[in-house]
Amino acid sequence: KKILIVGGVAGGATAAARLRRLSEEDQIILFERDEYISFANCGLPYYIGDVITDRQKLLVQTVGGMSKRFNLDIRNFSEVTVIDPDQKTVTVKNHQTGASYTESYDKLILSPGAKPIAPPIPGLAEAKNILTLRNIPDTDKIKAVVDSGQVSRAVVIGGGFIGVEMAENLQELGINVTLVEKMNQVLKPLDFEMAQLVHQEINANGVNLILEDGVDHFQNEGHEVVLESGQVLKADLVILAIGVVPENTLAKQANLKVGPRGHIVTTANYEVFIGENDAVNPDVFAIGDAVEVVDFVTKTPTAIPLAWPANRQGRLVADYINGKKIGNVGIQGTAVAKVFNQTIAATGNNAALLDLKKIPYQVVVAHRSNHAGYYPNATNIALKLLYDPQTLKILGAQAVGQEGTEKRIDVIATAMKLGATVLDLQDFELSYAPPFSSAKDPVNILGYIAE
Ligand code: FAD
Repeated sequence: KKILIVGGVAGGATAAARLRRLSEEDQIILFERDEYISFANCGLPYYIGDVITDRQKLLVQTVGGMSKRFNLDIRNFSEVTVIDPDQKTVTVKNHQTGASYTESYDKLILSPGAKPIAPPIPGLAEAKNILTLRNIPDTDKIKAVVDSGQVSRAVVIGGGFIGVEMAENLQELGINVTLVEKMNQVLKPLDFEMAQLVHQEINANGVNLILEDGVDHFQNEGHEVVLESGQVLKADLVILAIGVVPENTLAKQANLKVGPRGHIVTTANYEVFIGENDAVNPDVFAIGDAVEVVDFVTKTPTAIPLAWPANRQGRLVADYINGKKIGNVGIQGTAVAKVFNQTIAATGNNAALLDLKKIPYQVVVAHRSNHAGYYPNATNIALKLLYDPQTLKILGAQAVGQEGTEKRIDVIATAMKLGATVLDLQDFELSYAPPFSSAKDPVNILGYIAE
């Protein structure tokens, strides 16, 4: 078979490696528009913050290294601009030579990702100091500005994961950071009262957190951010991190079915729908941030732009192409982030989301030590779990704390995937010694409280 892959980072690179493991014979060509493949997107804020100091370490695989290791034909600076599903060809533009050519396929996998939203805010186009963060070139740009020593004040717009991580990393560099968020809380996967703990942490670490206010316009070439409230923030650097939208130019060109927010719609086997009749195309697949997924809890369509789904789908699509049966039960959206000294983790739906969907739920909340209180440096973990009052199945959980916080959410996420009820948590035999937990782990406690 001849298999083409569009996009050479999380989903695309994973699919390529798995395809090769499953078949020595297939011809596999990976197209990446930019210079770098398989880089560590998730590490970028920490490189800007000098936590990761070696730029090389961000490049998980290089074109040369990965081509050789997996016997792949990797073409960087190569953008796929057209898909012709009838002829089963793509058009590729080589950005180094400017030349375009066509390449035929038996199977085509799209993993083009998502890009930062940059709405036409007045003053944005004229500003050179307003930057977004997605890839290595973006990182180099931000790092160069930060390292120039010219940045004493930065404004981060958007309190999602990337915004919060950037605010922390810039603040830790000694820059005065203001974080602006339009909603009344940061980190949407958390319910409001859980997010309040994060707000405290952000404020305690010197970031000026402004909630319920958005950007009205930029002035003075981006050196002043004017908020809807009228407040003016001076900024040497502005990071725009208000969310991402799927990269769907190619999908739209090829008349692929997309969802309400532009995500590529697929079957459970990641096949796309093409044309007026939305017919399933058995030779074109889409994965990663660009696709719509099924919410594991509510079984409704959603989008979860995270690395785990992209990697998992990359593997599954390769399995499917090689004739394996695959299971696709939906995505929970399990996520974790560091906010200064706190760890924030969540899985499944929160109360805000369940309210929106009018799904009934019961709540259990526990505030427990992460390990035995008599062992030094115990810290508190706030845990909130939601479950179905009828079936008692777990619908979601959130935690804010320090050491061991994400471990509890990972246990609950696993339980959810296996269909556990809240009472099953009582019987989980979890590892215990005083430096790590208590004989009754906080996860067990949630089960006891629910009884
Ligand atoms: P990507 O990894 O974005 O890869 C898509 C690639 O396709 C891009 O390189 C793009 O240039 C290329 N491409 C697009 N169109 C074309 C075309 N027409 N032709 C050729 N190439 C094309 N997730 C987590 O779970 N945890 C984290 O801590 C985390 N931190 C993050 C921090 C940052 C700063 C960013 C930006 C993302 C972070 N993510 C994190 C999200 C995670 O990186 C993405 O979910 C994941 O990379 C998605 O994989 P993907 O293959 O769909 O897209």
